[in-house]
Amino acid sequence: MLTIWKDLLDLIFPRRPECPFCGAASPRGEPCGGCLATMGSYHGERPCTRCGRLAEKGAALRHNGAGHLCYDCRKRDWPFTLARAGGPYEGVLKEAIHRFKYAGRRSLAIHLAALMVDAYRLEPRYQTASLIVPVPLSREKLRLRGFNQAELLAVEVGRALGMPVNGSCLVKDFDTPPQAGLNRVARESNLKGAFSVKRPDVIRDQVVVIIDDVFTTGSTMSAAAAALRRAGARQALGLTAATGRYI
Ligand SMILES: [Zn+2]
Ligand SMILES: [Zn+2]
Repeated sequence: MLTIWKDLLDLIFPRRPECPFCGAASPRGEPCGGCLATMGSYHGERPCTRCGRLAEKGAALRHNGAGHLCYDCRKRDWPFTLARAGGPYEGVLKEAIHRFKYAGRRSLAIHLAALMVDAYRLEPRYQTASLIVPVPLSREKLRLRGFNQAELLAVEVGRALGMPVNGSCLVKDFDTPPQAGLNRVARESNLKGAFSVKRPDVIRDQVVVIIDDVFTTGSTMSAAAAALRRAGARQALGLTAATGRYI
């Protein structure tokens, strides 16, 4: 309901065109030069081959046969083949995601999705992907927020890549306590059994791209990927607007 009001207010009192990332005045509402340069620089950073997190300055990426792996990925396996992101969860990108998610600025989806598409195109292992699935919200959370931010991103990414999107085959069966502030062990036990697949026929033998807004510890991506794999998906590949950094 709240978002409908916001849309209506936007219609009556149009905002001055602004950069979707930093909010500076920008003709036609395109990303400003400064933000474009910042976003472009993220694609020059080398992500962890597996989880896609970016290195903090000075962090050691160790190279082995599988590529450059972060500390976590050297120690554990994941149910997803890889994950990538549009950039680090910091600065203007973090602020944009907050406005998108918590202030209901749904028009940001297309700009965040453009960063995700850039990251997708940089990684050849997405080439076999056949279906896009957003990380679902619980019914309770969806009712409160009015929209699923992951689904809006998925629709835009799907449109840009010409790939089908299915927002109903994976569901979150119960609401889990907020993940922020919890460590990985707590996050993972929080999410145990939270996701299930309603339409296994849709995802069977598919290489699924799972879309979410942020990858932090990887717990949500991991739980969603595990549910899809259990239901018969051949592979799960994560793609988010932003990701964490590791030390
Ligand atoms: Zn800007
Ligand atoms: Zn990693």
